Amino acid sequence: MQVFQHQVLVVGAGLAGLRAAIEAAQKYDVAVISRVHPVRSHSVSAQGGINASLKNHADGKDDSWEKHAFDTVKGSDYLADQDAAIIMAQDAPGCVYEMEHWGTLFSRFPDGRIAQRPFGGAGFPRTCYAADRTGHHLLHTLYEQSLKHQINVYEERLVTNIATENNRCHGLVALNMISGELELYAAPVVIVATGGSGRIYGNSTNALINTGSGAAAAYRAGAQLEDMEFIQFHPTTLLGTNILISEAARGEGGYLLNKDNERFMKKYMPQAMELGPRDIVARSIQTEIDEGRGFPGDYVHLDLRHLGEKKILELLPGIRLLAMDFAGVDPIHEPIPIQPGQHYTMGGIATSNDGHTRVQGLLAAGEAACVSVHGANRLGGNSLLDTLVFGRRSGSEAMRYLNENNPQPDHKLLQNFWEKEEKRIQTLLAGEGQEDYKELRHKMTQTLTHKVGVFRQEKELKEAVDILIGLRKRYPNVKIKNSSRAYNLELINALELEGMLNSAETVALGALNRTESRGSHSRIDFEKRDDGNWLRHTMAAYTEEGPEMSTKDVTITKFQPQERKY
Ligand SMILES: Cc1cc2nc3c(=O)[nH]c(=O)nc-3n(C[C@H](O)[C@H](O)[C@H](O)COP(=O)(O)OP(=O)(O)OC[C@H]3O[C@@H](n4cnc5c(N)ncnc54)[C@H](O)[C@@H]3O)c2cc1C
Repeated sequence: MQVFQHQVLVVGAGLAGLRAAIEAAQKYDVAVISRVHPVRSHSVSAQGGINASLKNHADGKDDSWEKHAFDTVKGSDYLADQDAAIIMAQDAPGCVYEMEHWGTLFSRFPDGRIAQRPFGGAGFPRTCYAADRTGHHLLHTLYEQSLKHQINVYEERLVTNIATENNRCHGLVALNMISGELELYAAPVVIVATGGSGRIYGNSTNALINTGSGAAAAYRAGAQLEDMEFIQFHPTTLLGTNILISEAARGEGGYLLNKDNERFMKKYMPQAMELGPRDIVARSIQTEIDEGRGFPGDYVHLDLRHLGEKKILELLPGIRLLAMDFAGVDPIHEPIPIQPGQHYTMGGIATSNDGHTRVQGLLAAGEAACVSVHGANRLGGNSLLDTLVFGRRSGSEAMRYLNENNPQPDHKLLQNFWEKEEKRIQTLLAGEGQEDYKELRHKMTQTLTHKVGVFRQEKELKEAVDILIGLRKRYPNVKIKNSSRAYNLELINALELEGMLNSAETVALGALNRTESRGSHSRIDFEKRDDGNWLRHTMAAYTEEGPEMSTKDVTITKFQPQERKY
């Protein structure tokens, strides 16, 4: 058994994980563990941009952090914790300038200042960008910084479980995917920054590695999952593959058209049109499709032709290539066929504004976490910001916790923990189970896609919960055929399925319990927002018999809940 020891272990090498690691590395010995090489994390594929009230745009002179915070809270349908949203909006300009000083090549206005574009649900053009490859540039910048700080990265490791006892964190176990050995990592602080869980759905824009297995490991280790029913469906994903076509396409002036060539958004949001918040635009598209005004095959058109070749080549080169490679259309000459698809996990590991979960020494940041700044609906451009702001804060909180407590991991406990996990892996490799893991996974993704989608109702949600409970009960008996240790994808997939099923159940149960419509959660049997009963976060705690559900107050400080109009 290989044993590694560090003071801080960051799980995940996307923007949140690297930012946390760089912060804590100022003082402590930090290592990052990642399922893939850092620059292959999903952050690399972020397209449209990152929000900050820099006031660089001619129409953005009156912007401010207060207005950014307000748009965020309104966009969240008042479910965001307002103290957290305010911290994020206040820190945003500093974060963007820090990335610029570290080397990010932002697109610029002719006067040399960082360029900004309009984005959905925002009162001013405040989204900073690097063409339509913003995540690529940001992630490469942070990776360079991690090299400069000589942060140790363990790549191609799958963290399967986190060791906690008596509400304290001691370390974790990870499968070395290359050798197949199970490794033990001792550390008094673990920061989980494992990204979203989009792949629990069958129609997601997320990378294949975004299974949510890391957040689920934290959940099984005693942290709570918060607001998991709030799944963002992005309005514009490519027909068939669900690859993202950035909101920047509409930010730059793209139109949405139905089969009658009508700019249908005028019926739903006459003011904001295509630049409404994502939840409402996605519902509008889905309504057009459901009522027969989409094209056969369930899609509508995103038309960029009027923007002209020059603008498309300069500002949207990446999405042009995606449309050509994956849908066979060149947006300079033809409209892009699009449909809504799963895009973002608003919920996640419940944390304080400093990233702490309810377990000592166990922290979380980024899409895996729920601080909560996005509430019931995230605004485009706020997630990259969330990763940097709360990644840094969790790194800083890790230092404080170590300074004040000097916690030491319990090696005896870790040894037992490793042995239990090794036994589980050996059982899987022996291939004696009866259940086909692929069948279970397929049933889960189809259930969420078709029964817990853009529009939801009690009957289907109940069916979904029952199906998912059934799958959870079948999981311990899963079987794989490949018994070798080296790069065994079946083993990796079967191990990750456990966490996917954990998350899926909290999504469906949260959606069933929440008898109102708010943000991305749209119940056709409860069409109204119900602040009296549901201006509350959903909390899920792990038990072997399924999630134990409760609710928690929303923090309201500056902005009183109002009806949301665009
Ligand atoms: C196509 C696309 C475009 C987007 N565009 C934008 C945009 O323009 N603006 C915006 O604000 N947001 C955008 N988003 C959202 C945003 O990019 C993400 O929310 C954000 O980048 C997530 O960063 P993260 O650091 O939390 O996680 P990720 O970047 O997803 O990184 C997760 C890390 O965790 C590791 N990991 C996961 N599970 C395990 C495990 N079990 N063991 C070990 N390692 C593990 C992975 O290897 C990876 O390194 C976009 C998202 C997508 C999918």
